[in-house]
Amino acid sequence: MTVPEAQVEGGLYAARQKIYPREIGGRFQRLRTIAAWALLGIFYLIPWIAWGGRQAVLFDLPARKFHIFGLTLWPQDFYFLTWLLVIAALSLFFFTALAGRLFCGYACPQTVWTETFLWMERFVEGSRSQQMKLAKAPWNAQKILRKGAKQFLWIAFSLWTGFTFVGYFTPIRELAHLIATFSTGPWETFWVLFYGGATYVNAGFMREQVCKYMCPYARFQSAMFDKDTLIITYDESRGEPRGARKKGIDPKSKGLGDCVDCTLCVQVCPTGIDIRKGLQYECIACAACIDACDEVMDKVGYPRGLIRYDTQHGIEGRPKHVVRPRTIVYAVLLGGLLAGLAWTVTHRNVVGVDVLRDRNALFRERADGRIENVYNVKILNKDGEAHEFTIGASGVPGLEVDYAGPKVWVGAGSVQGVPVRMRVPREALAGGADIEVAIQVVDRPELTARGKARFIAPSD
Ligand code: SF4
Ligand code: SF4
Repeated sequence: MTVPEAQVEGGLYAARQKIYPREIGGRFQRLRTIAAWALLGIFYLIPWIAWGGRQAVLFDLPARKFHIFGLTLWPQDFYFLTWLLVIAALSLFFFTALAGRLFCGYACPQTVWTETFLWMERFVEGSRSQQMKLAKAPWNAQKILRKGAKQFLWIAFSLWTGFTFVGYFTPIRELAHLIATFSTGPWETFWVLFYGGATYVNAGFMREQVCKYMCPYARFQSAMFDKDTLIITYDESRGEPRGARKKGIDPKSKGLGDCVDCTLCVQVCPTGIDIRKGLQYECIACAACIDACDEVMDKVGYPRGLIRYDTQHGIEGRPKHVVRPRTIVYAVLLGGLLAGLAWTVTHRNVVGVDVLRDRNALFRERADGRIENVYNVKILNKDGEAHEFTIGASGVPGLEVDYAGPKVWVGAGSVQGVPVRMRVPREALAGGADIEVAIQVVDRPELTARGKARFIAPSD
């Protein structure tokens, strides 16, 4: 399809202007730095922690087992994941209703990794103005060196991120060895490069565009806002009319508000918006503009808080309500779900049994006149410790259970198949019968599990 010239000239889409956020200090910036270090530290260190002879957190997809410190989740436990996702969604609703986009500003991976890439950029290319100057400068040796060094840092950090991510699914020490010896399999190579590439593109280039155009949360979060939600806002009644003034002059005598129109709040904004235009969906609530404006207010000797965390009611001078029906409902639901999850996890049965019939023979008639059926009893030990088990069965008079026992050792987080022969006197059987197989932990008799099976008789 040919695009009409007028459309091309008018521009269907505005070209992206690269944003060079100015570095800022301040109390909220300190909080964000602490949050970023804590979250990055957790992400990069956890796969290296050992627990009970294995990796503490390992999502072992081939074995269909998720190890999370002392907890091993089996396919039967995957409803916990659904539960966790519901809790995560509800937490997001709760904290958004309470404090707006707290998650975006302090804990979202896109924010945290972008911030890390910005640190590296500043480390190599210098301050905002130096970066802008370098971007305009012709390609000379210094520019190639600086841009090359930045790319090297970004790519190395991205690959380390991809490696760490895959280390949650493949034992990370083995993975490190495979990478060091260039012997990774195709899937490991693909996922390391895929997640490394995603980190590089999202945090190095896409940056605020992910928040503006790709993140669904940015679009629907405003539906969870009300006039008592904490937002980052500019106090228009205090700041306007804005304008430059000489230090020490009373702004009221000049008909001015407190905003000196220094545009620092815009320069530090990672999404490039002007908070003075009101609440915008592009605002990720990073609070950089608060720190910038507080610094300016300190310099000109005005009270802090021209840009601040406040609610719509607060700005209008009306009473604020942190506790309101919506937050109570979210808090109660969240509390209930968390308590339920904690109870279920701590009270779940950590042993299980599956009884499978031997498919080679339905039954066998023994010389002593008894009927014999053979089963494979699979003992599941989901506990973080190894245990010894006994196997018993009931359901038919005179039922004898014969296996290589009397104790069966099953390792922590393991399944052990045990061939079991069951014998019943012929006269006790009118036909086939349902039997119940029970397994029990020797040193903790309260840990027991039962499974059903069919005992086949010749008359069946
Ligand atoms: S407007 Fe302020 S809080 Fe919002 S993204 Fe920009 S700097 Fe951060
Ligand atoms: S930083 Fe404060 S004083 Fe400066 S332009 Fe922004 S709102 Fe006005």
